[in-house]
Amino acid sequence: MFIFWTDYAVNRQNASGPRDLALVGIILACVSAHECGHMFAARRVGMVPKAVILLPLTGVALYDESRTERPQPALLLWKREIRLALVGPLVSLALACLSAAVVTASGRGIELWKWPFLQAANLPRSVVWANLYLAVLNLMPAYPLDGGRILRAYFSRTLDVSSATRRAVSISNAIAMVLMLAGLFSDNWLTMVGVIVFSAAQLEERALVFQSVLDNVRLEEVMLTDFATLSPADTLEDALQKAVHSLQDDFPVVRGMDMVGIISKQNILDALRAEGNGYVQAVMNKIFEVSVRQDSLGSAFRKLTARNSSVIPVVEDQRLIGIVTLQNLMHSMTLLAESRKLRRDEAEP
Ligand SMILES: [Zn+2]
Repeated sequence: MFIFWTDYAVNRQNASGPRDLALVGIILACVSAHECGHMFAARRVGMVPKAVILLPLTGVALYDESRTERPQPALLLWKREIRLALVGPLVSLALACLSAAVVTASGRGIELWKWPFLQAANLPRSVVWANLYLAVLNLMPAYPLDGGRILRAYFSRTLDVSSATRRAVSISNAIAMVLMLAGLFSDNWLTMVGVIVFSAAQLEERALVFQSVLDNVRLEEVMLTDFATLSPADTLEDALQKAVHSLQDDFPVVRGMDMVGIISKQNILDALRAEGNGYVQAVMNKIFEVSVRQDSLGSAFRKLTARNSSVIPVVEDQRLIGIVTLQNLMHSMTLLAESRKLRRDEAEP
């Protein structure tokens, strides 16, 4: 779990000390509680959260695609999305009420309605207000805040996910801009919120571009067609010689036209060290997954990570026509994501 934290809370109080640290801790704990609300709700509908990036105001949750039963649907389930978005603000609101009740019941004469609401000098009041702020701010229609997610879900009734997200992001960017400007003339804190909203939207949008590349790009567009192969009858020393002259880390082993195994540079080296020279036949991995040229990048990725292998042969009529490797995929994904973004920016000035 990555935690991004800015020291704005510390800067706003001019003194630093254990109380300021405690205030930062309180805000962080409130954000975590809010995010946990979302994650538990997501888990209940079968989405497996992998990591969450905590920003001082919101979190960007990343879901493990390979473990989600069903691949990303073309249309968002918009009602479910709205329910998931509402859970966070509800958790924050509930915590605010609960802590307000506790503070009031403690009978220590803490005034809840007193400016500044968030203050290191009064931690119990800060707990109440931090949660209230989180509930209200997250309902702003600025994607990826919860309000913005609701807006996107509303758009996605008639649009596909990426168009709906793009529309929500452009509204969000406008809001972020207004907040940043307003902050310059009033409270820096607003600028901070604007910056957070803006960067969170960029993070989400990038993730979405990657997702669309994963779903829409076919292996034939990215597979390596110029690659070296080995024969099962090659000796390990010959294989090592070939490996030295190639950038490949993994080699398909072919007999005639048939693909019979996979061997990596590392396998060759390990076998040579352990048992001296031998044949590729004895060392190669005979169990491997194959793909066809129409498979999506995402499916190849899942196969690679599931088997923890580093190369997938692409076959057609039992014949090896190309290979995809992990490096190769990462590389082409970055390139494709960039070129799509360029094309889109041209299409929508
Ligand atoms: Zn939320």
